[in-house]
Amino acid sequence: ATTTATVTLTGAGGQIGYALLFRIASGQLLGPDTRIRLNLLEIPAGLGSAEGAALELSDAAFPLLDAVSVTDDAGTAFDGANVALLVGSRPRGPGMERADLLAANGAIFGPQGAALNAGAASDIRVVVVGNPANTNALIAAANAPDIPRERFTALTRLDHNRAVGLLAGKLAVPAGEIDGVTIWGNHSATQYPDLSHATASGKPVLDLVDESWVHEEYIPRVANRGAEIIEVRGSSSVASAASATIDHVHDWVNGHRGRWTSVALPSDGSYGVPDGLVSSFPAESVDGAWRIVDGLDVDEFSRDRIDRSVAELATEREQVQALGLL
Ligand code: NDP
Repeated sequence: ATTTATVTLTGAGGQIGYALLFRIASGQLLGPDTRIRLNLLEIPAGLGSAEGAALELSDAAFPLLDAVSVTDDAGTAFDGANVALLVGSRPRGPGMERADLLAANGAIFGPQGAALNAGAASDIRVVVVGNPANTNALIAAANAPDIPRERFTALTRLDHNRAVGLLAGKLAVPAGEIDGVTIWGNHSATQYPDLSHATASGKPVLDLVDESWVHEEYIPRVANRGAEIIEVRGSSSVASAASATIDHVHDWVNGHRGRWTSVALPSDGSYGVPDGLVSSFPAESVDGAWRIVDGLDVDEFSRDRIDRSVAELATEREQVQALGLL
């Protein structure tokens, strides 16, 4: 049966938005049986770019794409939304402190949460890409009291995919042979890419690589991959960020074939992560909902790394609480 979904994209005039739009419209986000209505949200300065992208979408004549609208009004953009991709955010400017960044983004994600609460469809699923993504998701969820909090997620799939890709390269196996990798914590340099439970073609990865390589090369390289891309490419990652966003929503809606992936979700207290913090966990998609993979052994090294990243999230929460954003 063919259904129709409304997908709202914020920051639609930006780089990641441009890379996302054509994949959404081609059916890669929600599958070949779901027709798409696209609502593009931008700030006034970004409207021209979003309108240009809308013209190009028309010129691509995607069979599944029913309609595209462009607006700078959040209420209009989120009306009836089934999926919201929150990509637009305020980048850190020169001389901006982290508190300024949190405040500037609170002014974006608070009202967007309220607009989602007022107008989104009852099955709304939200993924935040714009940084600081975990805390932006926390702010949006806090401003949407009628939406179940587990519908608010932040993207750590890019970190996860980077972790899988770099491991596959090291072991010279296809990425599809890798399973059981987890990104824990914040989408920041404190994140913990965990190979304790990872397998390659069914074999435990920690039997195949040196612990010193994992600790000294692999973990820092995954956590700092964004900076590596900027250094080599001359600008930040775009298509890989869009690709991970597609994967996140696709797997959330359609399931993830008995494997797990990494998703930043409001904590239910699992693995000692304080309730409500939007932190990355190993998660499976079951019947359209994320379920944290439970019962994993956490060794001393992992415990310390998870705790450090979670402490950063707790500090961000305190800062946005102090700013009155929650
Ligand atoms: P991009 O499309 O390249 O990035 C968008 C956001 O994604 C950035 O804030 C960026 O955060 C974040 N991001 C998360 N992960 C990654 C990653 N791995 N690589 C790169 N970025 C990542 O930015 P543009 O400046 O091209 O576009 C942003 C657009 O958003 C602009 O058109 C702007 O007008 C719009 N905007 C819209 C708003 C709205 O709709 N209400 C509000 C604010 C802005 P970071 O910079 O920390 O990497």
